[in-house]
Amino acid sequence: MINYQDKVIIITGGGSGLGRAAADSIAAQGGKLVLVDMNKESLEESRKAILAHSTDASVEIVEANVTDEEQVKNYVQFTLDTFGKIDGFFNNAGIEGKQNLTEEYGSAEFEKVVSVNLNGVFYGMKRVLKVMKEQGYGSIVNTASVGGIRGVGNQSGYAASKHGVVGLTRNSAIEYGQYGVSINAIAPGAIMTPMVEGSLKQMAGDDWEAAGKEFVSVNPMKRFGKPEEVGNLVAFLLSDAAKFINASVIPIDGGQSYK
Ligand code: NAD
Repeated sequence: MINYQDKVIIITGGGSGLGRAAADSIAAQGGKLVLVDMNKESLEESRKAILAHSTDASVEIVEANVTDEEQVKNYVQFTLDTFGKIDGFFNNAGIEGKQNLTEEYGSAEFEKVVSVNLNGVFYGMKRVLKVMKEQGYGSIVNTASVGGIRGVGNQSGYAASKHGVVGLTRNSAIEYGQYGVSINAIAPGAIMTPMVEGSLKQMAGDDWEAAGKEFVSVNPMKRFGKPEEVGNLVAFLLSDAAKFINASVIPIDGGQSYK
């Protein structure tokens, strides 16, 4: 049974896409949320959207850049000052970066993507794990990607960072299971969020919707995933119902990884 009454959950990238969808699902089950994002406006929009579905939800927002360790420290401290504990952490903020062949992939672009997707996830884990170890409980879900478990092409920075997220997840899961803390990763395939819409527009301009259809024609389910489908998975993984799941990397991709 999934129950979030009195549970405190931090979500990075909470201003959009998968972060917002997970927040919505957790709020609907009574969870108290701290949403973190570098985009203040989208955080406000998330809060509004969540309150429209769950009128008595508790939603705090913190503007922070996950690549800055000091700002990471601050959102963790804010959560402790406000709620006194952290039950769950959806460590999810990420960017895709420009697509290019490896030899043409910009080094600055590589560093930028790795800095958000991998360093940001590491900084968050570091701070949150210290708290969870002291508490003797907690769950973390890191957002990897299909691109973190197999090659997708033209995405050196993204693939390196997401493979890194898988490594970090398994490494820390082995360390912290003994303290009652579970750590897993999700590996989404193509989910229709602003990130994916943006990259389709970058590739195909005004024809992005047709390009999207073509893109998912190779998926066994012939469609994009919906953010709420990922949100529901995260809500399950961060709940007490999933306590014995640890060090797992769970694809949510319509079966595309196994085709
Ligand atoms: P999105 O662009 O809709 O949301 C990402 C959010 O992260 C945005 O609100 C953005 O402002 C925030 N963010 C970016 N950089 C940040 C930083 N440095 N500090 C704080 N916040 C920052 O994208 P999404 O599709 O919801 O992606 C969420 C996660 O899921 C990412 O890690 C992405 O790589 C991963 N993912 C997405 C898909 C997909 O198909 N949508 C597939 C696999 C993995």
